[in-house]
Amino acid sequence: PASYRGRRVVVLGLARSGVSVAKVFHSYGAEVIVNDKKEQDQCPEADELIALGISVLCGSHPGDLITADTALLVKNPGIPYSAPPIRQAEAAGVEIVTEVEVAYLLSPAPIIGITGSNGKTTTTTWIGELLESAGKHPIVAGNIGRPLCEAAVEATEGNWLVAELSSFQLKGTTGFRPRVALLLNVVDTHLDYHGGMEDYIHSKTKLFANQTKEDTAVLNWDDPICRQLADRLTASILPFSLYEKLSYGVAIEPPYAKTDTNASPDKNEAAAAGHIVWRAQDGTETELLAADELGIPGRHNAANALAAIAACLAAGAAPEQLIQTLRSFKGVEHRLEYAGEVQGVKYYNDSKATNPTATTMSVGSLTAPIVLIAGGLDRGSDYMELLPLFRDRLKGLVALGETRGKLGHVAELAGLAGVRLVEPEENAEATLREAVRQAAALAAPGDIVLLSPACASWDMFTSYEQRGRIFKDSAHTL
Ligand code: ADP
Repeated sequence: PASYRGRRVVVLGLARSGVSVAKVFHSYGAEVIVNDKKEQDQCPEADELIALGISVLCGSHPGDLITADTALLVKNPGIPYSAPPIRQAEAAGVEIVTEVEVAYLLSPAPIIGITGSNGKTTTTTWIGELLESAGKHPIVAGNIGRPLCEAAVEATEGNWLVAELSSFQLKGTTGFRPRVALLLNVVDTHLDYHGGMEDYIHSKTKLFANQTKEDTAVLNWDDPICRQLADRLTASILPFSLYEKLSYGVAIEPPYAKTDTNASPDKNEAAAAGHIVWRAQDGTETELLAADELGIPGRHNAANALAAIAACLAAGAAPEQLIQTLRSFKGVEHRLEYAGEVQGVKYYNDSKATNPTATTMSVGSLTAPIVLIAGGLDRGSDYMELLPLFRDRLKGLVALGETRGKLGHVAELAGLAGVRLVEPEENAEATLREAVRQAAALAAPGDIVLLSPACASWDMFTSYEQRGRIFKDSAHTL
């Protein structure tokens, strides 16, 4: 950032990450201009920047924002590349990056970058807690909440920056080089934004683009796309697997049996669960703990644990430093979160399951009969993927939101008896409360009511957090 002293840097998007980027470049003496299409009264962050002497332009993208002498454009990951200022910057040959690139340039601490379609927040949080127990002084940031730049400013050489990264963030990187990079899995979400699977995979693989042999790429050996990547990467590969005995890497032994989907889990899975084993390059083998001793349930969480262990080992932690926190970790709010019992029915809030694969994983992790509450924003996903799950694992489905009809159709094809479509009430909260009431009516003591929508929340709610909190509150006040 020091090389931008006296030069024009445009920050596009006035969210928390934009604020932290603007402050960084301002502190290095750059001429910073922040721009957002929103009106200024909707940008409470503007005042702080204006007080520092930073130019803030709100309400539109001015035509002359990108000048010939603009040195850099830092864009918010949510702004599409089709936005006029980005087109102009491209045409003018201005470098376009996201905050992640800036954080990389700033951070004296090595970075662990975590990406994938599902499990990022869980794995990132877990790595943070594991590294804390191993005395590695992690700072957790990125897509998970705190802007990465802010964390990078605070970091010293003695820290590890543990960064959750979305594909939107990764798309805007050029020199970014994490010491340890994790790709958890790749499924076809976010296709609307990225305009296709190739583009999506390309942005995910940007995570590894600048790594060398001294860096580590942690790859899911059970995911065909991750595995294919291995040959193309320049980093040292560290694989993890639930289903295969590995000669090198972190795996379950004996491996899980592969079932077609998580929808019909082996009922004896817990009894058959193997141990997590780390096998080093030199063949030494360390057994950490049994998979069913992990703090959170489900095969997908066992995969997240393997990934987290691999990352911590790559960061220099010793296996025995990790065991206690692998046992005690309680997961993250809105991810298969136990929300209490009402009249013998257990309620689980999995509001963060925003695509069919995530819902499949969650349903597969629970063993009692399930009444599922699902539905939300229609992003064109293929809900037929849910058919085996609906057929084999559900007792009932309560569908709401834009996709309620599509989900209802899949449930019908699956021959599910208890299906309810909830029509919109006067507001989103009332609709969800009605859905919880209908789910409660379908459930009997010993059953589970699970909110795991398979869809994003924005058709009705401001966030999945809001959706999850209303669900929990509705269950508690039934
Ligand atoms: P992300 O941050 O990538 O959205 P989270 O850790 O927040 O992922 O988990 C979101 C949901 O995705 C969980 O509630 C669970 O249903 C599902 N999930 C978590 N880990 C995995 C995984 N490894 N594979 C598939 N699904 C997963």
